[in-house]
Amino acid sequence: MKEETKFIADASLGKLAKWLRLLGYDTIVYPEVAGRNMLNQSLAQKRVVLTRRRDMMERQFAGRIILIPDCNVVKQLRFLIEKVPLNIKQRNMYSLCVRCNKELVIVSEKNEVRECVPHYVYNNYTSFTRCPGCGKVYWQGTHLRNALNFIGEINGEISNVK
Ligand SMILES: [Zn+2]
Repeated sequence: MKEETKFIADASLGKLAKWLRLLGYDTIVYPEVAGRNMLNQSLAQKRVVLTRRRDMMERQFAGRIILIPDCNVVKQLRFLIEKVPLNIKQRNMYSLCVRCNKELVIVSEKNEVRECVPHYVYNNYTSFTRCPGCGKVYWQGTHLRNALNFIGEINGEISNVK
């Protein structure tokens, strides 16, 4: 399941975009210099704008724009969790490819991924998903535990994580 809130981030926020995707938030990175075209795209696609550029805040804009005050990704994510606010749900994690933002597809036949994952993973996990764009294979194990630990560090009290 994808979350309903979608984002468009400026090019300096690539790491933050990956974390948002991991949490299930559809997030694209605007590849050019942030400006009017980026804002137009955000309106057309109903995306919240994330930017590090203070001058973007001075533009007339009917949508929602959030100035990210820090350059550290942990602090950025902590800030966003409170600001939006984000309701992080474990079941939404790893629903999108962190590389290309495409929705992951469940692998129906386990042996399809035999050559794509380490042996111990193949032997110890039963369900896998795959990105239809880049082909990256995901499984819910150490990935998910690491993510939860990371989010725990970010949030301290983990009040928004369910
Ligand atoms: Zn991908």
